[in-house]
Amino acid sequence: MTAEVIDGKAAAARLRERVGALALDFARQAERKPGLAVVLIGEDAASQVYVGAKGKATVAANMNSFEHHLPADTPQDALLTLVEQLNADKAVDGILVQLPLPPQLDAQAVIAAISPDKDVDGFHVSNAGRLAVGQDGFVPCTPLGCMMLLEERHGSDLSGMEAVVIGRSNIVGKPMAQLLLQANATVTIAHSRTRNLAEVVRRADVVVAAVGLAEMVRGDWLKPGATIIDVGINRLPPEPGAGKGRLVGDVAFAEAREVAGAITPVPGGVGPMTIAVLLRNTLVAAYQNSGLAKPDI
Ligand code: NDP
Repeated sequence: MTAEVIDGKAAAARLRERVGALALDFARQAERKPGLAVVLIGEDAASQVYVGAKGKATVAANMNSFEHHLPADTPQDALLTLVEQLNADKAVDGILVQLPLPPQLDAQAVIAAISPDKDVDGFHVSNAGRLAVGQDGFVPCTPLGCMMLLEERHGSDLSGMEAVVIGRSNIVGKPMAQLLLQANATVTIAHSRTRNLAEVVRRADVVVAAVGLAEMVRGDWLKPGATIIDVGINRLPPEPGAGKGRLVGDVAFAEAREVAGAITPVPGGVGPMTIAVLLRNTLVAAYQNSGLAKPDI
């Protein structure tokens, strides 16, 4: 079997286009554009790339992007003051503080300071709780993007299917498991203490790998025909003479492709969906914060 390669780039482009059109509708009704504020602290190269990409995508989706770049030695109270200002700013619908933060800053306290109504990353404990009890709230962008990709293939009801999520972080693994449970899958969460991981994964009709270990999941771990969502982004050491190593996921793609029914590539799978869902969440926040009926998206 050669698995279908799930085109996350194309799915993300479709979502961004819908969000962009709905943002124009919003602007007509509210007489302002939806706004996303992104706060970057320090000079981390990867974070700068992500923030730049988010800003461009926000503007391309007919929204305002407010970028705040603070020095690496910013103290906690200065960051909290900025978050408070953004919470109060009517032009700002979504607030995103780019993680990781420099060591003097307490990420949990910063996330807790963001108004849950503007928490478009879905990291606030109030939104995490809402997801856990099945109430409407902001869902973290990466797992929601994974669900959208799964939905295109399997629909929204995964009744009878076994799903294995590898990784239990608050931003990917745990919310992913909640979403799969809501979709009626039978869910197992595996992590670094799981024994016989290959056997656990072999039960799964749906595998979501969110670990951060290059090509850890091998082809012979997979049930034939399974759908594989690879969240991992890992850079391999460069080949001699080459500048940068290749990007790979947590799944050995070439091997997995021979066994799986469908698989997301890295790059071009989950990654593009993450930004598209961030824009989607910002649009939803704009409607909610303005008291307008939010569109079904
Ligand atoms: P974390 O480091 O927060 O979590 C990793 C998880 O993997 C932990 O739960 C850990 O278990 C588990 N783990 C570590 N080693 C093993 C192992 N040998 N076997 C089984 N489980 C293991 O990472 P994130 O959740 O933040 O990210 C995971 C990956 O996804 C990274 O590669 C990251 O770059 C990528 N990512 C991609 C995004 C995208 O847009 N495509 C967005 C966010 C993340 P334990 O809890 O026991 O330590």
